[in-house]
Amino acid sequence: MSRRGAVAVIGGGISGLTAAHDLAQRGADVTVFEAGPRAGGILSTVRTDDGFVFERGPNSLRPNQPTLDRLVAACGLSDARIESAPAAKKRYVWSRGKLRALPTKPPGILTTKALSPRARLRLLAEPFVRPRRDGADETLLEFFERRIGAEPVAALLDPFVSGIYAGRPDRLGLDAMPTIRDAEATNGSLFKTLRSRARGPSTALWSLTDGLGQLTDAVAATLGERVKTDATVKTLAKRPGGWLVETERSSDVFEAVVLAVPAYVAGELLGSVVGRELSATLSAIPYPHVASVSLGFAARDVVHPLDGFGCLTASDSPLPRGGGPALGIIFASSVFVDRAPDDHVALTVMIGGDRDRASAERDDPTLIRDAVSACDALLGLRGEPVTHLVTRWPRAIPQYRPGHKRRLQQVIAALPPELALAGNWLNGVSVEAAAASGAAAAERVLR
Ligand SMILES: Cc1cc2nc3c(=O)[nH]c(=O)nc-3n(C[C@H](O)[C@H](O)[C@H](O)COP(=O)(O)OP(=O)(O)OC[C@H]3O[C@@H](n4cnc5c(N)ncnc54)[C@H](O)[C@@H]3O)c2cc1C
Repeated sequence: MSRRGAVAVIGGGISGLTAAHDLAQRGADVTVFEAGPRAGGILSTVRTDDGFVFERGPNSLRPNQPTLDRLVAACGLSDARIESAPAAKKRYVWSRGKLRALPTKPPGILTTKALSPRARLRLLAEPFVRPRRDGADETLLEFFERRIGAEPVAALLDPFVSGIYAGRPDRLGLDAMPTIRDAEATNGSLFKTLRSRARGPSTALWSLTDGLGQLTDAVAATLGERVKTDATVKTLAKRPGGWLVETERSSDVFEAVVLAVPAYVAGELLGSVVGRELSATLSAIPYPHVASVSLGFAARDVVHPLDGFGCLTASDSPLPRGGGPALGIIFASSVFVDRAPDDHVALTVMIGGDRDRASAERDDPTLIRDAVSACDALLGLRGEPVTHLVTRWPRAIPQYRPGHKRRLQQVIAALPPELALAGNWLNGVSVEAAAASGAAAAERVLR
């Protein structure tokens, strides 16, 4: 027999924690099953003994994120909120043999030296490119080449896409950037949309004094014993009166279930519910391997002023002086205060992704060597790091291939109302999108 109103949330990342938080607030009898030793999933912060604060996963969040803003307030964390330094607006890109600062305002793209004069001229034609209205499943490469030409795609979009999605423009579909598709549909032009957004409110990024792990720790704390860690769910199956959720140590029946696990786990658990073909659709969503290497240096040992958020690299622009493979480097201690002890700096180098899966799979000493050589090539080093932390995300970020949403809709349509899905593979890969999917899943099962 199921306990009346009992809801299981499978997965304790930000999406599952948000679902559980909202369910608990509304009086539901909720239990979170988390496979790992701690709740939080990809949000995880490490404070080293020598005073560095390293993020293993997300480093910063964009402003005006309704679900996260609400969670921060509900967990009493409003005073712990910190904004990025004004300098963090500046971003660098390694492109055409140089580290170049990107324009901070949209019109600057028409004068940036990251593009040839010919490519900049082509940009002027963007507002006049006829919108495509047949709803075709274009890749990001096809969409952007059509609107802005090939060169900005290689020099700017490619680094951006590997930095945010660990992906490749020729493989990701427009579902990865739904606002871009909407911009074309509503304004007929990306530039018109960018111009109107530039007039919007503040764009400072934010985090918390103890890093983003503080957020998931706080949400988990409000749930207390309702969060079961080291509890990998092996079976989800229909039973009279509810849904059986089984781990190695427990076997309970719940009235409703929120699946807040990665798509490939949801695919396995939903096999008996949606059938083999639809569950295979979920299991087939690719997740490339990303390694994040955090490094601490004495400030005097880094030549570059680190006056920005960080730098990204273009896949067609190999680093100079044999620099190791890197998708980009976050200047972590320039973005937020107190991320490094006095006279030191903290950098995080991202390696791998869909562009270069093999590089992320190297052993730790090689990854550290690669990360240091990328820093040397891009920023200039005078000494070795004083500390390092390697984090591997063997299946880091879901890749929204063309047709992603259409395929997901078929799975969602096959679910009974008491089963809901949440996670970064549904409506966007950001922390906010994952949290919002958790809130929507809670709504669905409460209805
Ligand atoms: C290196 C990196 C940097 C990033 N940087 C940013 C950034 O700066 N800004 C931003 O907005 N986003 C960023 N992201 C993306 C963002 O962090 C994620 O999309 C988001 O945190 C995902 O949350 P989630 O709850 O969907 O998934 P997860 O955090 O993956 O949570 C899923 C949970 O399910 C658990 N689980 C799996 N199987 C089972 C099972 N069978 N039973 C029980 N539990 C199970 C897992 O252990 C995990 O805890 C980054 C991602 C990575 C990898």
